[in-house]
Amino acid sequence: MPIESINPASGKLIRRFEPLTAEVLEQKIALADEAFRAYRQVPLEHRAMCMRKMAALLEGEVEELARTMTLEMGKPLEAARQEALKCVACCRYYADHAAEMLASIAIATEARESFVRWEPMGIILAVMPWNFPFWQVVRFLAPALMAGNVGLLKHAPNVPQCALAIESLVRRAGFPRGAFQSLLIEVEQTELVLADERIAAVTLTGSEAAGSAVASVAGKYIKKSVLELGGSDPFIVMPSANLDEAVEIAVRARCVNNGQSCIAAKRFLIADEIYDDFERRFVAGMEAMRVGDPMREDTDIGPLATSRILERLEEQVRAAVAAGARVLTGGERMVGDGFYFEPTVLADLPRTAPVYREEFFGPVALLFRVHNIDEAIAVANDTPFGLGASVWTKDEAQQHRLISELQAGAVFVNVMVASDPRLPFGGVKRSGYGRELSSAGMREFLQAKTVVIA
Ligand code: NDP
Repeated sequence: MPIESINPASGKLIRRFEPLTAEVLEQKIALADEAFRAYRQVPLEHRAMCMRKMAALLEGEVEELARTMTLEMGKPLEAARQEALKCVACCRYYADHAAEMLASIAIATEARESFVRWEPMGIILAVMPWNFPFWQVVRFLAPALMAGNVGLLKHAPNVPQCALAIESLVRRAGFPRGAFQSLLIEVEQTELVLADERIAAVTLTGSEAAGSAVASVAGKYIKKSVLELGGSDPFIVMPSANLDEAVEIAVRARCVNNGQSCIAAKRFLIADEIYDDFERRFVAGMEAMRVGDPMREDTDIGPLATSRILERLEEQVRAAVAAGARVLTGGERMVGDGFYFEPTVLADLPRTAPVYREEFFGPVALLFRVHNIDEAIAVANDTPFGLGASVWTKDEAQQHRLISELQAGAVFVNVMVASDPRLPFGGVKRSGYGRELSSAGMREFLQAKTVVIA
């Protein structure tokens, strides 16, 4: 994939970037290596001061940064502003809480003193996607830098200006040269970087194929990896739910980020008693979404990020319909410039269809009728993925069953699934392994050094 900013709202090329030469890439890895040796000694208070400065810079530049995101990947401008502000909160959270997360843990033994001390691992490579071009990176870099690690970023090839803007923010915040660098490189070069003995570990957010490829290389070289892959999150609505609220949030949860979020609700499992009512209101809600220029303040859904994502979604919808799914609304790409797809609702996709097992990355909802809580749980778990689940019921016994029996990294009851710096984030099954955010996310790239003093 060439490294290019292409405006998805028009399909026009904005700027092309040459990948780094082998020589420049080597210089950057050497700089990161040198930076780590010095940076790991930098006192925590100084790291926190830089992290707060980064938060302030981000906050002051929200408008400009949001425009860069929208221009490169098409999310509505207001959503881009909110993304930048979420990054601000994440930086402040880790600046405030790193000291307690990094504190040694005393463990009583026969020795005079014994404890676990947390040490940074070194250079962490982050392979990141375009869907939340700032948030995905900041949620990695804030804990990594506070822990004393340094970072190298291989961002998705369609968001190079976002990648460079993040590097500039880190630098201007006062972190030392080499503490965080964006590498404009291609996939083949990524493998070489990961194989380099100076790189300690890798974190990847993206598709299963990308995760599997990167984790294989990491495994070969015995390096830690964290994978945050796709999802096909269920949104379960049982008869006791507040239907008005459930329908409103269902539409929002499917269309967030133009439908391109790993934790977007993708499969809607609705109890028989309320199914017809839900279907009618949900379809009306999807049809009311305003699709258009993401720079306009009144747009709900912008274009898909790339022509490839649009083509893939179109193929998936065709395959679903060929397999027997009914189109309740939408179903087609939109005519004209840009990578737009109609908000779409498909019902009764047979669960035996191969496409049922895939992630639909765009504003396409799959609706299923379920007859009881057992069937809801069975259908919800009938997926290779296990990222999040949003469940709607006032019945406490049902809530407990759903919390304990759903195979997912997170269960949100009567609310939409969302990431939060204070809470661990990650999946089970083919949604990946390891956790981001909270202290759990910071620990992923720390060594627990055991110390015993006789
Ligand atoms: P990818 O997973 O291919 O891209 C994500 C990142 O991984 C990019 O930086 C990409 O770089 C990199 N990457 C891909 N393959 C490799 C590899 N073999 N070695 C090293 N790095 C690699 O996502 P796409 O943009 O192609 O989207 C395809 C599908 O993936 C979507 O339709 C969606 O289903 C899913 N996806 C899920 C995301 C999520 O948050 N769950 C995020 C993005 C995508 P490059 O593009 O240069 O290959």
